[in-house]
Amino acid sequence: MTEPKVYPPPKMVDRKCKWCRKPFQARAVDVKRGWGLFCSKSCKAMKQEKRTHQFKNLQHESSFPDGRYDRDMSDWERREIQHERDLHESTTSHGQDGTGGW
Ligand SMILES: [Zn+2]
Repeated sequence: MTEPKVYPPPKMVDRKCKWCRKPFQARAVDVKRGWGLFCSKSCKAMKQEKRTHQFKNLQHESSFPDGRYDRDMSDWERREIQHERDLHESTTSHGQDGTGGW
């Protein structure tokens, strides 16, 4: 029952760089994760720089699929943090309103 693991070539999708608008190809899995927005790291950094100032006060990074790079943090790290935050929030509110209605 041991099948050799086959890794198919990653599915690529056509994207347009969010910064320089150059068409490029990104891996579909990355796009799913919210990556693959920029053709290069430097483009990402440029965009990041701009957004950092714009979204400083908003803190709604999770609702901006293309604007979550306000810090040099990878997507999964960000999600972990958001997840923990959600956990904390839900547990505290449950304790406070005392409904306990699960
Ligand atoms: Zn670019």
